[in-house]
Amino acid sequence: MMFRKNEKETATTAPSAAPKAMPARSVPPSLAGVKHIVAVASGKGGVGKSTVAANLAFALKQRGYRVGLMDADIYGPSQPGMLGAGSDKAAITDDQKLTPVSRHGIDFISIGLLIDEDTPVIWRAPIAMKMIMQFIGAVEWGERDFLLIDLPPGTGDVQLTLAQQAALTGAVIVTTPQDVALGVAKKGLRMFEQVNVPVLGIIENMSGFTCTHCGKTTAIFKEGGGRTMAERLGVPFLSAIPLDPEIMMSGEQGAPVVSASPDSEPSRAFLKVADRLAEEITRRQACDGTEPLALELTDDRTLTIDWPGDLRTRHTAYHLRKSCTCANCIDEDTGRQLLDPSRVPLDISITDIKPVGRYGLSITFSDRHSTGIYTFDHLRSIDEGDSAEDRPPSFDV
Ligand SMILES: [Zn+2]
Ligand SMILES: [Zn+2]
Repeated sequence: MMFRKNEKETATTAPSAAPKAMPARSVPPSLAGVKHIVAVASGKGGVGKSTVAANLAFALKQRGYRVGLMDADIYGPSQPGMLGAGSDKAAITDDQKLTPVSRHGIDFISIGLLIDEDTPVIWRAPIAMKMIMQFIGAVEWGERDFLLIDLPPGTGDVQLTLAQQAALTGAVIVTTPQDVALGVAKKGLRMFEQVNVPVLGIIENMSGFTCTHCGKTTAIFKEGGGRTMAERLGVPFLSAIPLDPEIMMSGEQGAPVVSASPDSEPSRAFLKVADRLAEEITRRQACDGTEPLALELTDDRTLTIDWPGDLRTRHTAYHLRKSCTCANCIDEDTGRQLLDPSRVPLDISITDIKPVGRYGLSITFSDRHSTGIYTFDHLRSIDEGDSAEDRPPSFDV
């Protein structure tokens, strides 16, 4: 990414140049034949992440992809139960490799296939980390279009190591309507950002709300929370999965709903997620990365960005400042705008721009506000075009 300030004087606040080059991720040989490795993550437990992972695997399979599923939840593996593998054990080959177990046409692996059901799974963190690394390297996946990794919930070291070591194509974040608190999803997003793993989208899973006092479960359907969150975080919204007892029932009976009743409404929702996920991956490959090719700041007020694929977007400092989504400007829990837009000076300018990971820009404005992060995905999707300031004569076409 090149940065050019279209001004005669040399800027004392010259933004740092290209983002730090990351060391090439080494791919474990066991994953070499896998085209896309996608982590299914959640900022916290209890959002139905494993159910989503299993059904998404079946939905991708139904679309004709060769799919594997890795249950990396070493603390509470749930895929063996969900896929009806009961007390099955994974076979270990002579050279200490693991052969995935096949259920309903999906090959999967889980810590639960290696240990006895009644063995308490209590790993101390360093052991857990070593275990998960061996686990990633030990499974013979062969040729696959997709490998889905059901990550443990949360954003701890195990998740971070996995995201870093498994050569991920990207991650999807599962959330629920109750979980629209931006903080939780943001935490997940930051974790992947730290290791340069793109977030391919957010899935809103409609789980019921269980009262902690009386244990009564109430269906809450508050549509749009996930979509709003995705928009605000600048990542695609993949779809909402309806709250449907069939999803849970099928899981309990050892066959995910997409496998058990492929024509049902919940199955169609999972197919939509699968299609959008595949589309998003294709789109990202097509533009050969999502980072800007060049940035140019004109008169400290108009930011012009050139993107791969012959796309140019223009942004005014005024609009960028007004649409800041940092915690000071937007209430993370309610999504209410805390910034009074009328207090943004019309002549506000940009004093500094720094890349954030390979993911977005941190912009400092003349009012000293600098806490907002503008994701590339978001910037690419908005173009103020004609409403931006007119091109100065020095503008290079
Ligand atoms: Zn209650
Ligand atoms: Zn802000």
